[in-house]
Order: sequence, then structure tokens, then C-alpha cells
Amino acid sequence: MLTVIEIYQLLPKTNCKICGDSTCMAFAVSLLGRRKKLVECTPILEENFKKQKEKLDSLLLPSAGASETGMIVHPELCTGCGNCVVACPVDVANDPHGAGMGCAPTNDRVIFKVVEGKVIASNVQECRRFGKNKVLCYACIDPCPTGAIEFA
Ligand code: SF4
Ligand code: SF4
Ligand code: SF4
Repeated sequence: MLTVIEIYQLLPKTNCKICGDSTCMAFAVSLLGRRKKLVECTPILEENFKKQKEKLDSLLLPSAGASETGMIVHPELCTGCGNCVVACPVDVANDPHGAGMGCAPTNDRVIFKVVEGKVIASNVQECRRFGKNKVLCYACIDPCPTGAIEFA
């Protein structure tokens, strides 16, 4: 399953801000959440990033037509407290010594992780709001002290 880190590693990693996000990591989060398109990073259209762009195009294609959760994470509001990490039920039960204990996740199947003081969301396909069987889960929204997570 595609992760933010996989996307980030293929971006130019210059944090030039041309895409409108403050870092390449933030742009990777936007891409995974389908809030932005790869072409908004104009540096990756340059010839020397051709292979990376092709790889990103192929990685992002499967999620392009998928039902969306509407999840929006506002990195500028996130304090990195980790409340959402342990509150989200997705795979916390299978992570008894990590998120299940209120600690950093020890597997890649959880939805939220705090990286360098900011939460990142991946595996959004596992969110209970995703797809045709979606349910209105509020478990990550309610414990967030800053309103950094919303669903459109
Ligand atoms: S435009 Fe591309 S290289 Fe520049 S910050 Fe955004 S993602 Fe990174
Ligand atoms: S809505 Fe529920 S399942 Fe989805 S990310 Fe938030 S806590 Fe996890
Ligand atoms: S609960 Fe809110 S402030 Fe805390 S890590 Fe999650 S998104 Fe960031």
C-alpha cells in the first residue's frame, strides 16, 4: 500500500515551495490525500527527474479514481501531540506494543504517524470513512486539540 514516505523519496526534496506547500513532505501528504496533483510540483517536470515522475505517475494512478475519505490534515495546525495516532482504531489492535500502548506505531498499517513533529496520514484506504461501506468515524477528530484534522 502506498505511503507518504514512498512518495516523498521520489520528489526533488528541495523544499522550494513552488507547489504551495512548505516542504516536499507536506506535498507528499497532499498527493496521498489527493488534494493536489503532481504537476503542481513543476521542478519534477524537468528532464533530470523524468524517471522519478514516471514512477510517481504509476504509483498515484491506482488511487486517482478511488472513493475518497475527504480527509484533510492541516500540518500548520498540528502540534505533533500524537492523540490521533492512538485514537484511530485502524490496526491499533495489531500494534499492541506501539499505538495500542499510546506509543509510536510499530507497523506501517496504521493511518497516522508523527514524523518530525507533524502528523502524516497514509493508508487512507483503511479509514472507516473510505469506500462504499464508509461509517462516520470521529475517533481522530475529537481528541485533536487544534482542529488539525477535518473531513470535507
Ligand atoms: S515544488 Fe516540488 S520540490 Fe518544491 S517543495 Fe513542492 S514538492 Fe518539493
Ligand atoms: S475517521 Fe476513524 S478510521 Fe478514519 S482516520 Fe479517523 S479515526 Fe481513523
Ligand atoms: S491529534 Fe491533532 S495536533 Fe495531535 S498529532 Fe494528531 S493532528 Fe496533530
